[in-house]
Amino acid sequence: TKIEKLSTTDELTGLFNRRGVNQIIDLQMQQAKLTQRETSLIMVDIDNFKKINDRYGHHQGDVVLKHVADILRKNLRISDVIGRYGGEEFVILLPSTPIESAVEVAEVCRKALEQSAIKMKGNEPLHVYACFGVSSTDHVGYDYLDLFDQADKALYQAKRNGKNQVRTVFTL
Ligand code: GH3
Ligand code: MG
Ligand code: MG
Repeated sequence: TKIEKLSTTDELTGLFNRRGVNQIIDLQMQQAKLTQRETSLIMVDIDNFKKINDRYGHHQGDVVLKHVADILRKNLRISDVIGRYGGEEFVILLPSTPIESAVEVAEVCRKALEQSAIKMKGNEPLHVYACFGVSSTDHVGYDYLDLFDQADKALYQAKRNGKNQVRTVFTL
């Protein structure tokens, strides 16, 4: 129904919101467990977003969030599930996808973002970057909290390692 759709959609980006993405990932993980197919998760966090907000204002910050959402959406398949998980954090679930492929997808998104400039009101076009943490069921099993946890750890490593990069917690 329309109400259900509203309650699971992020108004700003049109992606799933945290609640929507949690619901769908939960279902997808049950499915993945039954079929024993490797499923991957990507967590995305925009680099230095606080500075962007401080410099250009919250409204332009929202423009940046929409831009990042568009770039991600354009570079994913229909079967992939994408949501805005928190302020400037996105989560992508890739059903039936090995982690090597998920890393490639993340890298395509990262490059697309790096190469795109955002038109800013009264300012030069802006480049924004992001970190991508990737995990998969082959490494942590079919509990989706574990999947999140490992993607989050990888994301943290990407930040610590200099930002604008894709990471897993181990070497592939
Ligand atoms: P890092 O590179 O380590 O990720 O640093 P960061 O500045 O991106 O991360 P931090 O978590 O310190 O800042 C996130 C900022 O996102 C803080 C908050 O003001 C902003 N934010 C959260 N939600 C929204 C939103 O809906 N719109 C806008 N414009 N800003 C938001
Ligand atoms: Mg963050
Ligand atoms: Mg950030």
